[in-house]
Formats: sequence, C-alpha cells, structure tokens
Amino acid sequence: MSFSQLGLSDKVIGAIDAAGYKTPTPIQEQAIPHVLARRDVLGIAQTGTGKTAAFVLPMLTMLEKGRARARMPRTLILEPTRELAAQVAESFEKYGKNHKLNVALIIGGVSFGDQDAKLLRGVDVLIATPGRLLDHSERGRLLLSGCELLIIDEADRMLDMGFIPDIERIGKLVPFTRQTLFFTATMPPEIQRIADNFLHNPVRVEVSKPATAATTITQGQVAVGREGHEKRDTLRRLIRGAENFKNAIIFCNRKREVALLHKSLVSHGFNAVALHGDLDQSSRTAALESFRNGSAKLLIASDVAARGLDIPAVSHVFNFDVPHHPDDYVHRIGRTGRAGLTGTAITLVAPIDGKSVAAIEKLMGMPIPQMGEPAPAETPDAASGEQRPNRRPPGERSSERSEGRGSRGGRNRGGRDRHSRPESHQEIQPAAPGQDQPAVPVAPVSIERPQAGNDQSRPPREASRPRHEPRQPQGNIPVRRGEPQPKREQADEEPDGRHLPAFLLRPVTIKA
Ligand code: AMP
Repeated sequence: MSFSQLGLSDKVIGAIDAAGYKTPTPIQEQAIPHVLARRDVLGIAQTGTGKTAAFVLPMLTMLEKGRARARMPRTLILEPTRELAAQVAESFEKYGKNHKLNVALIIGGVSFGDQDAKLLRGVDVLIATPGRLLDHSERGRLLLSGCELLIIDEADRMLDMGFIPDIERIGKLVPFTRQTLFFTATMPPEIQRIADNFLHNPVRVEVSKPATAATTITQGQVAVGREGHEKRDTLRRLIRGAENFKNAIIFCNRKREVALLHKSLVSHGFNAVALHGDLDQSSRTAALESFRNGSAKLLIASDVAARGLDIPAVSHVFNFDVPHHPDDYVHRIGRTGRAGLTGTAITLVAPIDGKSVAAIEKLMGMPIPQMGEPAPAETPDAASGEQRPNRRPPGERSSERSEGRGSRGGRNRGGRDRHSRPESHQEIQPAAPGQDQPAVPVAPVSIERPQAGNDQSRPPREASRPRHEPRQPQGNIPVRRGEPQPKREQADEEPDGRHLPAFLLRPVTIKA
C-alpha cells in the first residue's frame, strides 16, 4: 500500500515525499483511514513503529478545514514527558511544512508567559504534558471545550508516572463528543480501564515491533562490587574496550547517580552528557541535541527521561544499574540494534541485583550471558569520545578521589564515595597478559521482546507523580494534597540498601 491510498491530503503527501518515506508502516496503514473516518482508535504500538506519524498525518489533513479560536485549542495531544512532547512538536514541523497551523507546546520547566501568549493567539494543535496543561486550565487561560480531537500517547508510561488522575481530569474538560486516539505499548488492566472510559466504540489497531525488532543485540552481564567507584571504573574499562563503538546510552536508576556518573566520566575525559528529570529544560534539550548530532558520544540517562525518545543508531547500551522493572531492561537495550544494525547491551550487576536479574531473565526467557572481567585500557579508544588518556595503572585509586574536582568542592566529596568501605574495595583484575581476546567477550543472542499486550510479567507499580513535571504552587493555585508521589526518579531519595552509610554496614561486636 502507498500513502496516496490512505486518504491523506495533497499537502501531507508532499511533506511525506519530502521526508523520504516510501510506504506507510503497519500502524500507519491500519490507523490512518480510521482516524480520517473520525473513529476512535486504540493503538497498541511502541516507539519506533511510526506511531507518531500515524496520528500526526491524518490530524494535519483534518485540520485543513476550520480555524482556531483564542484560548480554545482544536486538538490536544498529551505526552508523559517534555522530551516526547517536544519530539511530537518536531513531527508537526516536518510533516506540516506545507501547512500554516499554530502548534503550541505546553510543558513544564519553561515560562508561563510565552505559553499563555500562544494560547491567546489561538492554537490548532496543543501538545502538552498533563501537569502544566492543568495549571493553565486552572488559571482560566485555557478552555478545552472546543477540542475536537484528543490524543493520549504512551498511556502505559502515563500510568507508570502517576499521571492517570490528571488524565482523567483532563478527560472531563474536553467535550464528550470529541474523537479520541489512545496509544499504549502494553495493555495492563488499569490501562484497559482508562481506554474503556475514554474511547467510544474504538477500532483496535495492534502492531508488533517492526521487522527489525528481533534484531541481534549482543547482551552480557558483568559482575561488580557494590562500591560506586568500582562500578565506575569497570564501566570506563568496558567503554574503552568496546568493539565497534560509536556511541552509548548509559542507564542509571536514579537522577543522583546520573549526575554523579556524568561528572565522573567527564572528569575522566569522556565526551558525555546527562539527561534526567532535575535538569532544567534547556540543559535537557541541549544534551539530547549534542548526543543526536554526535558531538557527545555518551548519554547518561534515567529511564523516565529517556524512554520513548527517538535516538537513532546507538551502538552500545550500558546498564550502570540493573533496572528494578524487567520491562525497563527491554526498553533500555532496545535503544541499540535498531533499524537492522547490530548492537551491544552490557549490564553491570552488583551482588544485591540478583533478584532483578532473575526477573529480567524470566521475562526474556533466557539468561543474560556472563562476561569476563573487562581488560584495562591503557590507551584510550578515540571512537569512544574519550579526550584524554587515563594511564593510571590498575589498582590505583587516587583518580577516583579526583572525580568531580573540576567542579570546585564537587559533590562527589560528600557523595556516596565518602562512605565507601575501604576494606571492601576490590580492583577488577586485568585480563592475563598476551590474552588475545576482546575486552568484552560476549555471547550474541537474538532477543524477542515481549509482545505488546502481554504485561503479565510487569510487577505492580504504585501510582506516582513525576518529579520532572511537578505541579508547583503557582500564584494562588494550591498543590493538591494526597496526590500520589513520584516513584522512579524520586527513588533518588529513597533508601534501598545501596545508599547506606558505611558505618551501618560494618560488622558490630556486641559484648555480653
Ligand atoms: P515513531 O515510532 O513515531 O517514534 O517513529 C520512529 C521513526 O520512524 C521516526 O524517526 C520517523 O521519522 C520514522 N518513520 C515514521 N514513519 C515512517 C515511514 N513510513 N517510513 C520511514 N520512516 C518512518
């Protein structure tokens, strides 16, 4: 099937040609005619399937008739994160290049004033994160009663991030008669309930991952001790020794760890940027852009910040922390090996991670192969983006102490390492001299990611409010009490055993 058979307007077809797309993806082929027929659609599809164009292209066609009124957007797209919202806004620039439509991005972390001015001018397409949207609505700056089309994107991610109460409130502000498109990667019962509430007689469109989904990703796990500096040291060796290295995303479970690791890698001369929810919007945008355009080779990120982002051609994924949720592992490693390319995903596993690894292996239906210890890299790998060599002999710890020094009184001095137990420090031994093997010996495995709709293995999640999209008290707007608390990123502050001060871990002799 070709795009011209889907019922899209000439202007849209022109933009698709300019984008170089030859044929619609399965989700586009199946969803677009129904969207144009004004049916509600339940789309079960992941990022990478072309789902954004599946709703943007017919929206553009439909919006050619009619015009926007002040403060009354004609259509509304809800996204769980600012980055995803910005990415959808970019899609409108690309596919809407032949249109003159007012597109407004209403996200947290940027000034209200500019957003307010845009709303006043009249908006054809409003792309928003739920918290900031409700803030504008509560201030009386936004009326959703003229909204003809509501799109809820990444609904399962909204659930993870505790946005469902906000989504339900927004659902009551848009007219009952609107058309609704609802996209989710998985279909847990709670999402099914929301879908049943929001959609009227929907067409269900379900696509498995693209043909390249069963791509060959070489996976491996490396045992590390629990000490932060030891893990960072292992990571550096893995990066330096990585074969066919182009660039890498390094995932941490906590924002604090993202910041710490970023500082550490930079101080060791790596070309790295960080992405987590506590960074201001301009830093987040700049980090993503420099990773996308290749000027930064390493992106250190948390799950919440990185999920769903369209970052093409990543050669390596490193799990600096084992994710607590096994489905996050699948999402993380799915960042590499895209579009038919091969990729490598390596997970650093500390002793306390046993349960998490077992859950991942159960979900994947196969073990993550154990890897040997990474060899020390005496000369830096230019491809890794490292800018200066680290000639420190294996075993010397002084450079760990220098981490973060560049930033005056660096936080590292007061961070976790301050509490490290010297007696538990273990250097990873280098490979035997003359051993002619890659620093990263791994067994290639072909992964089948869990199918959309199968969420049985997903552990229950508590509702939470995302930290990076906070409902700040604005003027006389109260923060709602009793709201669910953020989970993953806020877990930065939650004790889980890894952040215990060293004195609590020392053996104690109690005298009778
Ligand atoms: P998405 O799943 O919406 O994040 O899209 C993933 C990537 O696929 C984006 O980089 C799009 O530019 C690209 N894409 C979307 N539709 C097509 C198509 N029909 N042909 C080729 N690439 C596409």
